[in-house]
Amino acid sequence: HVALGERAYDVRIGRGLLARAGSEIAPMLRRKRVAILTDETVASYHLRPLQDAFAAEGIASEALALPAGEATKGWPQLTRAVEWLLEQRIERSDIVVALGGGVIGDLAGFAAAILRRGVRFVQIPTTLLAQVDSSVGGKTGINSPHGKNLIGAFHQPSLVLADIDVLSTLPDRDFRAGYGEVMKYGLLGDASFFGWLEANGPRLRDDPQALQHAVAHSVAMKARIVERDETEQGERAHLNLGHTFGHALEAATGYSDRLLHGEGVAIGCALAFDLSARMGLCPQEDPTRVAAHLAAMGMPARLADIPGDLPDNRALIALMGQDKKVVDGRLRFVLARRIGEAFVNDDVALDSLDQVLSEAR
Ligand code: NAD
Ligand code: ZN
Repeated sequence: HVALGERAYDVRIGRGLLARAGSEIAPMLRRKRVAILTDETVASYHLRPLQDAFAAEGIASEALALPAGEATKGWPQLTRAVEWLLEQRIERSDIVVALGGGVIGDLAGFAAAILRRGVRFVQIPTTLLAQVDSSVGGKTGINSPHGKNLIGAFHQPSLVLADIDVLSTLPDRDFRAGYGEVMKYGLLGDASFFGWLEANGPRLRDDPQALQHAVAHSVAMKARIVERDETEQGERAHLNLGHTFGHALEAATGYSDRLLHGEGVAIGCALAFDLSARMGLCPQEDPTRVAAHLAAMGMPARLADIPGDLPDNRALIALMGQDKKVVDGRLRFVLARRIGEAFVNDDVALDSLDQVLSEAR
């Protein structure tokens, strides 16, 4: 449960939830119809079963499948989605269903936020990243050529259905990328969870019970933080651990499949610990432990792990400056006092940053 007063909602996490989506959503509907936004890849695996689940409860559903990929998260596909929803005569009391990863969740949530000044939406996240992170917390939006996620709104979902079973069709690389955000929770706020991940991370893909625990624990951590700081005035910024580096690397690689968001976050977490240790803020052994865990997970941890050429340090740092987490022209980083304790630091020395980037090449 995410306790946000009149915007409160439940996140259901378990197996076989897709097949029960009709009965979960039916009590929320004024009339028995929903509009589904999804992407073409997700639709090919999971749309039919979802529409069957709705039909079984007498709920009519129409679906629009957008192209898969980060490029969808922009004005052209947003326009298309919103106009399609109007064409479907979606009214204030209706519900929009987002079936997909973070791209679809962010875009559908924003479409729901601006359609008729706000309609309710339900998240059915289908990637590990979306289940542990983007489907919960109400950040919705699209990208701009000026940067990622620069256009958007806070709009909380009315329900989240995270079905662990749908992750079985997810490519390994996307699964591991989502794991970057799971690891982030341990690093930013729960050292014992990080210890659990060190022991169990490598078998998560093959163990639904362990996977469900990892998802539920991650969501619970995010929910508690969002409850205390819904619009990111303070503590919620801790969830951006690894993201200033990650966003710069995503921008430097053109938001292409050279680097997925969660991979950027993984490298970013490793670099945030390198920087924290270099600045004498956290124990020297912590970055070593983070890098070792990423290696054990088969995940990238350094700039050298990104295929192709990267811009020089100066250009990378400029890309960090473009990130929206900049206060008064000074670089702001989420750093760590130790594994399990993140904090916001507004005073990062540029040479430390430069050295950390050079060492990671
Ligand atoms: P994504 O939505 O692009 O999904 C990744 C790929 O997996 C896509 O090709 C998709 O078609 C495919 N896919 C999805 N589910 C599948 C399944 N079950 N089986 C097979 N293929 C499947 O990417 P993502 O990693 O889920 O999300 C990344 C986005 O999330 C970024 O835009 C990021 O900015 C955003 N994000 C938002 C928040 C937030 O709080 N709103 C938090 C973190 C990330
Ligand atoms: Zn992220």
